[in-house]
Amino acid sequence: MRLPQQILAETCPSCDTLNPLEIVYGFASAEMFDSALAGHIALGGCTFTDDSPAYRCRKPDCEAEWGRWGDDND
Ligand SMILES: [Zn+2]
Repeated sequence: MRLPQQILAETCPSCDTLNPLEIVYGFASAEMFDSALAGHIALGGCTFTDDSPAYRCRKPDCEAEWGRWGDDND
């Protein structure tokens, strides 16, 4: 599990906006849709690959996506 502090420490590589949305993959439940609408997460859809990004910038006109789910393996 990622800790909130780790997410908050992320900055957009394009515009330096803090606190990106974490992209959640897989079939979206009603709770996930509610969280996405509330701006807590981003929905990445059902297709997940090793190249799928982990974060999406929350600045509306940026929409940069970056990070890799495997990156937190020390
Ligand atoms: Zn950005």
